[in-house]
Amino acid sequence: MRATLMYGAGDVRVEDVPDPVLREPADAVVRVLRSCVCGSDLWPYGAMPASEQGRRMGHEFLGVVADVGSRVSGLKRGDVVVAPFVWADNTCDFCREGLQTSCRHGGQWGLNGVDGGQGEAVRVPQAQGTLVKLLVGEDSELLPSLLTLSDVLCTGHHGVVTSRVAPGRSVTVIGDGAVGLSAVLAAERLGAERIILMGRHTDRTDLGRDFGATDVVAERGEEGIERVRELTGGDGTHAVVECVGTRQSLETALGVVRDGGVVSRLGVSQYTEVPMGFDTLMRNITLTGGAAPARAYIEELLPDVLDGKIEPGRVFDRTVGLDEVSDGYRAMADRKALKVLIQP
Ligand SMILES: [Zn+2]
Repeated sequence: MRATLMYGAGDVRVEDVPDPVLREPADAVVRVLRSCVCGSDLWPYGAMPASEQGRRMGHEFLGVVADVGSRVSGLKRGDVVVAPFVWADNTCDFCREGLQTSCRHGGQWGLNGVDGGQGEAVRVPQAQGTLVKLLVGEDSELLPSLLTLSDVLCTGHHGVVTSRVAPGRSVTVIGDGAVGLSAVLAAERLGAERIILMGRHTDRTDLGRDFGATDVVAERGEEGIERVRELTGGDGTHAVVECVGTRQSLETALGVVRDGGVVSRLGVSQYTEVPMGFDTLMRNITLTGGAAPARAYIEELLPDVLDGKIEPGRVFDRTVGLDEVSDGYRAMADRKALKVLIQP
């Protein structure tokens, strides 16, 4: 089959790789219907050292079950399923606590002999715990929105839940990428009264307004902090969801959060030290967030996607075939596409 590999910064290739087959009784094989490029794929796309072997790419996909192992129940050939961005047994103590990202028997796509999602098919370890049936047809118009359950919608939701967004509360979302926009959608869904979106790309912040943003702040750094504080009577917002990952973005988050508030970080952190000195101690600021246990949220979010109450798939603004994946990466890296859908 064909699959996407990254060999170094800017070097993405689609090549022939071995067809996935069942290796363990808990495996399934899924033929991919839709996959996509993640904002987090852009970090290695910008900086990965050149390698001989290449690295299998893609951790967001949905598809059709093609084969199931003897220990997999509840799934059969032909089921349309979505996979969260890590695989997990969904039964260990961490999974039962809703932290499938720390599963004792789980792992990441594209590593240690496991396929990536940006290909024609995937061997899915721990299939019964990992895959969620979608009960739609292979040609459903909802596929793009359903694909966001793999990562960005659940990640945005995670930021909103961990920063304790609730009816009547205010939230600032930093970053107008697909995760930031999904966080806006999730905050609106949970009843946030005021949703301030910080971003500079008007086409993206316009979509953010459609998703529920009440205010847009284009300024960054100190100016951005000032602007959010002006909008909130000088106090800042109860919650902040940080969706960029840079130190400057984290400093902005700490600058716009209200005393007693919560900052949740979702961006892939490009820093190792956090500027939380005595001032943040006096202000009772909580710092939380992290990689979203998407599997824990899919059942809650799925009905709203199936009913059309939310349309998170609007973050996809370009579709490519597998052979054009390299163009898809470039378009996202050049900010010419918000999020690229892959239709193998
Ligand atoms: Zn587990």
